[in-house]
Amino acid sequence: MTSKMQAAMVEQFGQPLVIRELDIPTPGPGQILVKTEACGVCHTDLHAANGDWPLKPTLPFTPGHEGIGIVTALGAGVTAVKEGDRVGVPWLYSACGHCEFCLAAREPVCAEAQFGGYTKNGGFAEYIVADPNYVAHIPAHLAPRDAAPLICAGVTTYKGIKETKARPGEWVVISGVGGLGHLAVQYAKAMGLFVCAVDIDDGKLEHAKRLGADVMVNAKNGDPAAAVKKATGGGAHGVLITAPSLSAFKQGVGMTRKWGTCVLVGLPPGEFPTPLFDVVANCITIRGSFVGNRSDMAEALAFAAAGKVKADIELQPLSAINQVFERLARGDVPSRVVLDLSAA
Ligand code: NAD
Ligand code: ZN
Ligand code: ZN
Repeated sequence: MTSKMQAAMVEQFGQPLVIRELDIPTPGPGQILVKTEACGVCHTDLHAANGDWPLKPTLPFTPGHEGIGIVTALGAGVTAVKEGDRVGVPWLYSACGHCEFCLAAREPVCAEAQFGGYTKNGGFAEYIVADPNYVAHIPAHLAPRDAAPLICAGVTTYKGIKETKARPGEWVVISGVGGLGHLAVQYAKAMGLFVCAVDIDDGKLEHAKRLGADVMVNAKNGDPAAAVKKATGGGAHGVLITAPSLSAFKQGVGMTRKWGTCVLVGLPPGEFPTPLFDVVANCITIRGSFVGNRSDMAEALAFAAAGKVKADIELQPLSAINQVFERLARGDVPSRVVLDLSAA
């Protein structure tokens, strides 16, 4: 084993990533070293590299929170995983384990939570240091490249759909059918829901249809909320907004049925106007949802292991990361790009 690794790093917000040759890190007590096989590229990585959000990561840093790999070294005291295990290093990198939110299995909102590829270096690198208590355990017959999108896009949408409280036979809207949304459509179908897919790109909507969506609405044409209300007989019981675009949020509230729930997971910077009277008088719930807890992760992976959900992926080398980011910003990635680090 050489002692150097490649990593794609954000050195300045809004600038291209730089591929650096770094020392392979040594896991400290309670940590593990993971040799990366594959890492998905999430739109969140783009927000991170642009410094889009109020809480900014410290520069320089390595993005990537869909890294899958093999445990190659254990720090002192580690018993939760062993060398040779295949794990994923997710957005929820670690949490305190004993605050009120951790005790309630709501650890993504723990005040001490660390975030992979954001407050901790992530998977756009040949090795990742991880917390063995928070890694995802990858089912045996799931290929690393197929597992990668599931540990963020998969768990986030699986949990987000559960948070809509929509029940089998009811309607959900999936607004934005890109990396997150194309998995959301599949989870929703597997959960027995009727699915209305909303996007601004006809190619994405065609894809949603192939994945089982019952109704497709292009938000660029006419009044998308009216189109959804018509198709669903009064609005969707649950709406999941994954679109990284503020206009989708107001529209999504307008697509929600009386007493329904609109779940926000997309994270474009900014605020959106809320039609207060409509929300109050129709008893609509608007709630945020942030990845998922470790049980959600295991469940989201189990759907894929059972063949009910499969990410559509395009493989690219680590060196292509800047072109991938440009395409993601333009909406030119059909579903999910996965960086292939297995050759390294
Ligand atoms: P993506 O770029 O792969 O997909 C976005 C999709 O939204 C594309 O298909 C695009 O055509 C579509 N879209 C754009 N504008 C739209 C509009 N006005 N109406 C409907 N659709 C529209 O991005 P992604 O990787 O799926 O991530 C989506 C968002 O979710 C990002 O903001 C990301 O940061 C966020 N995210 C949140 C969480 C969480 O835990 N809450 C987790 C992961 C990602
Ligand atoms: Zn993500
Ligand atoms: Zn905590």
